[in-house]
Amino acid sequence: MAVVKAGAYGHGLEEIARALAAEDLAFFGVANVREARQIRHAGVNTRIYLLGPTWSEERKEIVARDWTPCISSLEEACEFNWLAAAHGRRFKVHMAVDTGMGRGGFVADGLAEALAALERLEYLEIEGIGSHLPAADEDEEFTRQQMARFAAIIDELGGAARFRWRHLSNSSGILGYAPGVCNLARPGLMLYGIAPLAGFQHQLRNVMTLKSRVTLVRTLPAGHGISYGRAFVTSKPTRVATVGIGYGDGYPRHVSGHGAEVWIAGCRCPILGRVTMDQMMVDVTGSREVGEGAEVELFGPNLPVAEVARNAQTIVWEILTGITPRVQRCYRE
Ligand SMILES: *Cc1c(COP(=O)(O)O)cnc(C)c1O
Repeated sequence: MAVVKAGAYGHGLEEIARALAAEDLAFFGVANVREARQIRHAGVNTRIYLLGPTWSEERKEIVARDWTPCISSLEEACEFNWLAAAHGRRFKVHMAVDTGMGRGGFVADGLAEALAALERLEYLEIEGIGSHLPAADEDEEFTRQQMARFAAIIDELGGAARFRWRHLSNSSGILGYAPGVCNLARPGLMLYGIAPLAGFQHQLRNVMTLKSRVTLVRTLPAGHGISYGRAFVTSKPTRVATVGIGYGDGYPRHVSGHGAEVWIAGCRCPILGRVTMDQMMVDVTGSREVGEGAEVELFGPNLPVAEVARNAQTIVWEILTGITPRVQRCYRE
């Protein structure tokens, strides 16, 4: 299952869905109905799995279009069953179980009764069972226990053969652990070439490069403030390049003052002062040849997005999904 929620992690949902459509995937994983519609709008017919719970008013369309929800409660299941009855056909759903995420799914007590109740709904087919890992990149011991618990649950519910699809792992689960009882996985971040477990990064290649260009280069004298709040003041004459990107494009303002750099003409150049909405200033004293129009890499092959996330005290997922629509997406074959 290719997870393409949040605009395919900021890469562009329709384009990524079209690029992956030929890969013989079991499902595209999306967050909501609107994203499901976008995939169909792109002309892609791969099955769609809804990763979170749905609102009652969305369920009619979900059944009509045969998208696959994960079920966390009997109430949802009953409504899907009732809607499917109107179509006179069985509707495939997955049973979500909460093995530690605390966000959705049936809680561990009474799962056998819950499954029995689901199976009494004659227009539903319980095609799969899934759960989610909250800490596969942070807590190996907990994750190993959680995987064992998921296997035990499946045993208790009648064994692996009872479910066509059994799924638990996100990217860190896939990279760091054996599949065990599962026959489906839900990679998100790693699809876009970023490893949530740093030791695996050399096996992947980042998909997104964020670039801008220099708009202006000037030399400022010593004692000159740079950007809002004058948080940075030059201590010597400094060649300052102004770059046409800012937090309005999703580049995190929070890197300001944390030693963040950008890549220009083969060199790392420090960001000076605060990142503004549309522009930022960088020190190009060391690269004489940099002038107006020079290409600036904010992250990509030369500057890991993980480093930007670290400087912004956040995670890569937030950086990628935060790149705003103002940034023009360019795709290469
Ligand atoms: C977002 C999400 C994933 C993908 O997670 P990554 O860490 O990006 O691989 C997998 N499963 C569920 C339920 C999710 O919500």
